[in-house]
Amino acid sequence: MLDLAPLIRNVPDFPKPGIQFKDITTLLLVPEAFQQVIDGWKERYSSQKLDAILGIDARGFIFGATLAYAMGLPFVPVRKVGKLPGTTIKEEYELEYGTATVEIHADALRAGQRVVVIDDLLATGGTMAAVHRLLQRLGVELVEAAFLVELPPLKGRERLREIPIHTLVEFMVD
Ligand code: AMP
Repeated sequence: MLDLAPLIRNVPDFPKPGIQFKDITTLLLVPEAFQQVIDGWKERYSSQKLDAILGIDARGFIFGATLAYAMGLPFVPVRKVGKLPGTTIKEEYELEYGTATVEIHADALRAGQRVVVIDDLLATGGTMAAVHRLLQRLGVELVEAAFLVELPPLKGRERLREIPIHTLVEFMVD
């Protein structure tokens, strides 16, 4: 098993001063590491009788779509507002400055279905909380939210208390 943490590049002050940006593109350059991530999640969820894998715009698409392919499951993108052409439902969430909105195609999922949602990184948990609200409106069960990276000082896990969370690498930075 590879140690994944050293494969994730830290970029200080990106995209603005004070942010320690965790760059997963350096992990994607190491095929064995990418395979370890996807194969690990595939094994974790293979007994769960899932109906779909969701990935969050944009780095969640890389991992989510690959996992969906590996598991032979439908992939559903959750996108930033204005990108999906069909009828959507939206949820707004707070950012440090202002708000952002995520949306999903209203006909992509049905009530009673069970899904796992994938993103690259858990920070404050605001994005995943908004995705959870979308799924609640659709009557879809969020079996688990899985992230490659967690930043525990930002307390996303506490904010998402009612959702099972799974993460692979922790960095004690905010
Ligand atoms: P949050 O909603 O605060 O949990 O933020 C999570 C989203 O923002 C994810 O989609 C991440 O890709 C991105 N993100 C937040 N903080 C960072 C960071 N320090 N490094 C890389 N991506 C981040």
